Amino acid sequence: MAKDKACKVCNRIFETGEKCPECESKENTEGFKGRIVILNPEKSEIAQKLNINKKGNFAIKTR
Ligand SMILES: [Zn+2]
Repeated sequence: MAKDKACKVCNRIFETGEKCPECESKENTEGFKGRIVILNPEKSEIAQKLNINKKGNFAIKTR
């Protein structure tokens, strides 16, 4: 099984590929902390705190 990675730029979590599917950054890490699923970016307080405006899986903290 592939390890999940999180983009350091937009916090998007993805499994395959070297690039973030969201922003195409190659800055990613396997050492992220926490995971949230954003379903309603407009209504989610967490999404607003993390500056996320898209649906999907995101890491809470990357390092
Ligand atoms: Zn990204």
